[in-house]
Amino acid sequence: MKTYSCKCGNTLYFVNSQCLSCQRVVGFLSDEQVISACDIDEHGQWIACRNGRAYRPCKNYSDHNVCNWLVPVAVDDHLCPSCLLTDTIPDLSKPENMKLWFRMEQAKRHLLYTINKLELPVTGKSDNIHGLAFRFLEDEVETLYGRELTIKKLVLTGHSDGVITINLKEAEAAKRIKMREIMNERYRTLIGHFRHESGHYYWDRLIKNSNKLDDFRALFGDERQDYQASLERYYAEGPVADWHHHCISAYASMHPWEDWAETWAHYLHMVDTLETAHEYEASLENRALSNPLSGGQPHTLSFSEDSFNTLLDDWEKLTTLLNALNRSMGLDDAYPFMIPPRAREKLHFIHLLVRNTG
Ligand SMILES: [Zn+2]
Ligand SMILES: [Zn+2]
Ligand SMILES: [Zn+2]
Repeated sequence: MKTYSCKCGNTLYFVNSQCLSCQRVVGFLSDEQVISACDIDEHGQWIACRNGRAYRPCKNYSDHNVCNWLVPVAVDDHLCPSCLLTDTIPDLSKPENMKLWFRMEQAKRHLLYTINKLELPVTGKSDNIHGLAFRFLEDEVETLYGRELTIKKLVLTGHSDGVITINLKEAEAAKRIKMREIMNERYRTLIGHFRHESGHYYWDRLIKNSNKLDDFRALFGDERQDYQASLERYYAEGPVADWHHHCISAYASMHPWEDWAETWAHYLHMVDTLETAHEYEASLENRALSNPLSGGQPHTLSFSEDSFNTLLDDWEKLTTLLNALNRSMGLDDAYPFMIPPRAREKLHFIHLLVRNTG
């Protein structure tokens, strides 16, 4: 994730909606994929300091403050490209849901930032019935005197034909951590959910009807095996004993689709975190880290095995440091994973696919 400079010289971050130094309003220019401070002219238009062009805030920015993206005035849509992808928002008659919706939208924008940097196709439902859409849904619960008694209808986080559903409670840290404990996982984050589920969407788009299907099956396994049976077996018996020899996570061993989605999510963790490290001019062993998102033109980067190996080596060194720093602060490991050689091959497959698609 990159940082940007305000006109006043202050650093601006992807999530900002105001410069804390000069108080200018700030927004993410959805057409240029950069943050910019803005001056508001006499017609109420937001003039981006970055390019001098006129924008208006996304309706979810001006009305609800859950978005910080800006739409060029020439574009008819009242919502930004990210908010246009949201199909169902939480019930706003519950005051606490506004904060949770904000977190959902923020994590979605973070996902889209990386997806756009990788130049992967994003199509909404208005353009294609199989297009991408997000639903942020709540469990139906029975309450007594304001306390949750039982869950009447459980919302499953998942993907189906372009529709990504995320259970709203994943935006609440306490509930998410509780779920992580119940599921015996070492990593569970909101951005992780978005990255994982986007993997299912991109499997449909990039693999399903493509000439890559055989290569996919050779690496990840045959996805035609019964998904429901695999799921039930996984939760009844746990992961296969040797999962860590060929998968990036225990859950990845459940079914080839989940292996793909988990590996895809890791690829996005990797390229985003390396870009952040690069942005802060981090270097390891006196060598600058590789930045897979440099220049915004990933397809111009080398496809060579060497470049991928450097990327992976940098990632392993960086996460070793990241984990050690977290332990010094008494926190859980930021990246509690080991990447076995077989999972490296899977990441390499995704790396080449993304390069060739972008
Ligand atoms: Zn400023
Ligand atoms: Zn928006
Ligand atoms: Zn999945």
